[in-house]
Amino acid sequence: MKIFYHCSCCGEAIADIEVDQVDEVKLGFDCLTGDERQDIIKADPASNTMYVKSLCDSCVEVLGLADEQPLWSPQTTYLH
Ligand SMILES: [Zn+2]
Repeated sequence: MKIFYHCSCCGEAIADIEVDQVDEVKLGFDCLTGDERQDIIKADPASNTMYVKSLCDSCVEVLGLADEQPLWSPQTTYLH
Protein backbone atom coordinates (compact mmCIF):
# COMPACT_ATOMS: atom_id res chain seq x y z
CA MET A 1 0.00 0.00 0.00
CA LYS A 2 1.32 3.38 -1.02
CA ILE A 3 0.39 6.48 0.96
CA PHE A 4 0.62 9.69 -1.00
CA TYR A 5 0.58 13.03 0.82
CA HIS A 6 -0.28 16.17 -1.05
CA CYS A 7 -0.91 19.76 -0.05
CA SER A 8 -4.63 20.56 0.13
CA CYS A 9 -3.80 24.22 -0.42
CA CYS A 10 -1.47 24.31 -3.46
CA GLY A 11 -1.73 20.67 -4.54
CA GLU A 12 1.99 20.06 -4.35
CA ALA A 13 3.17 16.54 -3.59
CA ILE A 14 4.70 16.38 -0.13
CA ALA A 15 5.72 12.78 0.31
CA ASP A 16 4.86 9.26 -0.58
CA ILE A 17 5.59 6.31 1.60
CA GLU A 18 5.23 2.59 1.13
CA VAL A 19 3.76 0.56 3.97
CA ASP A 20 3.01 -3.13 4.35
CA GLN A 21 0.02 -2.39 6.50
CA VAL A 22 -1.83 0.79 7.29
CA ASP A 23 -1.18 1.41 10.96
CA GLU A 24 -3.74 4.09 11.76
CA VAL A 25 -2.25 4.90 15.13
CA LYS A 26 1.25 5.30 13.75
CA LEU A 27 0.00 7.44 10.89
CA GLY A 28 -2.08 9.57 13.25
CA PHE A 29 -5.35 8.68 11.54
CA ASP A 30 -6.87 7.49 14.81
CA CYS A 31 -7.00 11.15 15.92
CA LEU A 32 -9.33 12.07 13.09
CA THR A 33 -13.09 12.22 13.43
CA GLY A 34 -15.18 10.38 10.88
CA ASP A 35 -15.83 13.57 8.94
CA GLU A 36 -12.17 14.61 8.95
CA ARG A 37 -11.18 11.18 7.81
CA GLN A 38 -13.58 11.30 4.87
CA ASP A 39 -12.29 14.72 3.95
CA ILE A 40 -8.60 14.02 4.39
CA ILE A 41 -8.15 10.42 3.31
CA LYS A 42 -9.12 9.09 -0.10
CA ALA A 43 -8.39 5.46 -0.78
CA ASP A 44 -8.00 4.07 -4.26
CA PRO A 45 -8.21 0.28 -4.00
CA ALA A 46 -7.58 -0.16 -7.74
CA SER A 47 -4.05 1.24 -7.48
CA ASN A 48 -3.61 0.23 -3.84
CA THR A 49 -2.96 3.84 -2.92
CA MET A 50 -4.20 6.16 -0.22
CA TYR A 51 -4.26 9.88 -0.90
CA VAL A 52 -3.89 12.01 2.21
CA LYS A 53 -4.42 15.75 2.33
CA SER A 54 -1.95 17.76 4.33
CA LEU A 55 -0.22 21.12 4.09
CA CYS A 56 3.25 21.73 2.69
CA ASP A 57 5.76 23.80 4.61
CA SER A 58 5.36 26.90 2.44
CA CYS A 59 1.57 26.90 2.77
CA VAL A 60 1.84 26.43 6.52
CA GLU A 61 4.02 29.52 6.51
CA VAL A 62 1.78 31.52 4.15
CA LEU A 63 -1.30 30.66 6.18
CA GLY A 64 0.47 31.66 9.36
CA LEU A 65 -0.02 28.27 10.92
CA ALA A 66 3.62 27.71 11.74
CA ASP A 67 3.14 28.56 15.40
CA GLU A 68 -0.06 26.61 15.71
CA GLN A 69 -0.63 22.93 15.51
CA PRO A 70 -2.04 22.24 12.05
CA LEU A 71 -5.22 20.18 11.91
CA TRP A 72 -3.17 17.22 10.99
CA SER A 73 0.32 16.82 9.64
CA PRO A 74 2.39 13.79 8.73
CA GLN A 75 5.48 15.65 9.93
CA THR A 76 4.32 15.37 13.50
CA THR A 77 3.44 11.73 13.28
CA TYR A 78 5.02 9.33 10.88
CA LEU A 79 7.71 10.99 8.83
CA HIS A 80 9.89 12.28 11.63
ZN1 LIG B 1 1.08 23.94 -0.33
